[in-house]
Amino acid sequence: MDSYTCRVAATATERKLLVGGDWIETGDWIEVRSPYSGDVVGRVAKAGREETRRAIDAAERALREPLPAHKRAEILVKVAGLLGRRHDEVARLICDEAGKPMKAARVEAARAMSTFTFSAVEARKLAGEMVPMDAAQAGEGKLAFTLRLPIGIVGAITPFNFPCNLVAHKLAPSLAAGCAVVLKPASQTPLSSLLLAELMEEAGLPAGWLNVVAGKASEIGDVLIEDDRVAALTFTGSGDVGWKLKERAPRKRVSLELGNATPVIVDANTDVERAAEKLAANAFSFAGQSCISVQRIYVLRDAFDDFVAAFVPRVEALKVGDPADEETDVGPVIDEDARERILEWVHASSGEILTGGDATHEGLIRPTVIARPKPDDKVECEEVFGPVVTVNPVDSIDEAIERANATRYGLQAGIFTRDLTTALKVAPKLDFGGVTINEAPTFRSDQMPYGGVKASGNTREGPAYAVRELTEERLVVIQL
Ligand code: NAP
Repeated sequence: MDSYTCRVAATATERKLLVGGDWIETGDWIEVRSPYSGDVVGRVAKAGREETRRAIDAAERALREPLPAHKRAEILVKVAGLLGRRHDEVARLICDEAGKPMKAARVEAARAMSTFTFSAVEARKLAGEMVPMDAAQAGEGKLAFTLRLPIGIVGAITPFNFPCNLVAHKLAPSLAAGCAVVLKPASQTPLSSLLLAELMEEAGLPAGWLNVVAGKASEIGDVLIEDDRVAALTFTGSGDVGWKLKERAPRKRVSLELGNATPVIVDANTDVERAAEKLAANAFSFAGQSCISVQRIYVLRDAFDDFVAAFVPRVEALKVGDPADEETDVGPVIDEDARERILEWVHASSGEILTGGDATHEGLIRPTVIARPKPDDKVECEEVFGPVVTVNPVDSIDEAIERANATRYGLQAGIFTRDLTTALKVAPKLDFGGVTINEAPTFRSDQMPYGGVKASGNTREGPAYAVRELTEERLVVIQL
């Protein structure tokens, strides 16, 4: 072992996996390293096929004794309370394992509370509907209604970039719907999900309702796909992995939340200072590693120079450095491979680098703005998932829409304009799951229906919408 691999942070935690109500070791470990320092910040027991099968067995046993809605809601509310009480610890763990600056980690920790709170509301609202039977001659003399029943066992697979709140978006709606879960968190960031599991247990969740198996993705994924008892797979991550999962599990309900190359249009009449302020903050938060991080900006030609003059200094003012520092805006990207890929894409672009384009002495990618890249430059047409944004002058709103839509992705997009009519005409023409007006499209509040079209996915999250995906309607017909 070299000196790098030996370094262990003083706060490093050792975590077992939760399977069937037991915290288990497997004899094998995943080392979780800080993306900033490289220090080991935790060790997590590593699961494979065997533990995943045991987790599914446990979930099956749990579902034999359904939990009433009021009990599920009560547990969800308690978890929200525990997240509030342990806010600092949760935020610090997110920061340690993901390298997310504390500012953003605190927001994520607070949002997870919101996700649990909204899910508790949904647990209490779960209801079917009356069917107007005498609307057809055949239905006369009959009464019918639907029940909303849990779909069954949910396999949940989550990415590294929101290790707490995106896990919360799987666990909390599943429990609200009455489903048991087998969770496979990202190998780079499994610690937050195990803390969430601990909080759910503390809140009174009985054995088997939540099982967490961190480990080799392909092995765990194969078991979740092949086992017919897993009724639904809910996946957040990259398109390559997500669409293959769906292809391999045609009989399951597969919900996909995938990537984006987020565009924003800036109209000529916009308050450019305000737009620049919002976009500078939202293109670089967590080093651009949000699925809706602002990546492509299209500015009407008349406002282009003013916008760039307002935008670039704001980008340069962002503080790049140690994510544990409460003042830091931009920290590291997740690992060396990501760093190299992003810098390679930047250097391969034909555009003019207005700022950034290189790394700091600590090896962190400096927030980078590229003007007028070619449409087929990777920074313009692929998901960068790094601290890089492009700025492009356009001659008309129609051209801006066309360029914004010229991507296989369709998660969120935005427009800044003072003209409400323009905004409302543009919103339906942007081929995305969500459109923000005078707000960066990085905006998300946890009760919103959130999800993409085209290659960005096939579902909507937000507890009310996720619960709909995780329940089935059972029709009951009564002869009167
Ligand atoms: P990723 O590489 O696709 O990994 C996501 C999860 O899938 C991880 O848990 C990973 O496990 C697992 N996985 C990988 N290969 C698998 C396989 N063959 N079978 C089953 N599971 C497998 O994505 P990421 O790099 O963590 O996250 C970044 C991507 O997520 C970006 O594209 C981003 O836009 C997208 N994202 C989308 C949303 C949204 O809501 N739409 C939100 C956040 C992120 P390992 O970690 O063990 O490899």
